[in-house]
Amino acid sequence: MHPFSLERPRDLSAALALRAQAGRNDAPAEYIAGGTDMVQLLQENVRRPDRLVSLAGLLDNRIELTTQGLRLGAAATMAEVAAHPEVAVQFPVIAEALLNSASPQVRNQATMGGNLLQRTRCPYFRDTGYSACNKRTPGSGCAAIDGENRWHAVLGGGEHCIAAHASDLAVALVALDAVVQVRGRQGERTLALTELHRLPGTTPHLETVLQPSEVITAIVVPAHPVARRSHYLKIRDRASFEFAVVSAAVALELQGDGRIRQARVALGGVGTKPWRLPRVEAALAGSSLAPEALRQAASIAAQGAQGRGHNDFKIELMQRAIVRAAETAGARA
Ligand code: SF4
Repeated sequence: MHPFSLERPRDLSAALALRAQAGRNDAPAEYIAGGTDMVQLLQENVRRPDRLVSLAGLLDNRIELTTQGLRLGAAATMAEVAAHPEVAVQFPVIAEALLNSASPQVRNQATMGGNLLQRTRCPYFRDTGYSACNKRTPGSGCAAIDGENRWHAVLGGGEHCIAAHASDLAVALVALDAVVQVRGRQGERTLALTELHRLPGTTPHLETVLQPSEVITAIVVPAHPVARRSHYLKIRDRASFEFAVVSAAVALELQGDGRIRQARVALGGVGTKPWRLPRVEAALAGSSLAPEALRQAASIAAQGAQGRGHNDFKIELMQRAIVRAAETAGARA
């Protein structure tokens, strides 16, 4: 492990100033909050900061529910949010995404903000024994495209990177139109979660639109008629402590006749960022919950998908995941 110093600034302004001294990505300073991902990256020598700036005790950890929606302080842990009784009732897709993530020990430590900023599980990124990884070493190539790519993305990738985004939580939040509140040295700003993560393009090492010093301070999920009738379906290689092969977050509002008035749909495990599907949502509006109708709408998700060999199966699986998640959400009271 590369040696580093741990800074414990007295407040958030001091933390921002410390981090701002370094440039973006592969800079000699990094933030650390819960540390569940960062410590792995340090141990694996993937990240080699000279200085870690601790956010412990500097960020809000409140969970607030109002008629306007849900506000999650960035320091709230996965376990705290998942266990909140009103989150489970009013935003079940969020609670389910969290409870299907990681392990109880990790959920007790990992924060909301950190979860959204976790790095990909691409094994070539995580193993420095492989030299070709544009995300870890810009310009070095991509070992996954012609390598073992069963876990990789079929949506949003390109010739420079096909790494799938790893967060379950982000998929649920993207489906519910969440926004993130961000603070940097220039002040505060709010951005849609759909805008936070970047497509890899020619610069896969740049994963978000955050400036070097910026931190996520809160996540806001607006109140919405679809939120209660929502579900997160996660398909994975083993039943616990495993990342998604494919996941689907579906939220529905039904009409009096049982047909879908409006839908929100997002996918995980298949996109280089949490993947919202507005064309599938449009096709679901007015549809019945009959399997063949759901299947027809879900087939739109495959438009533009590109398999790389080992991950071809995801294109079919993600359509089935949407159907199953919609059936479960639609059956909710
Ligand atoms: Fe690196 Fe992305 Fe290729 Fe994985 S898919 S090896 S993270 S460039």
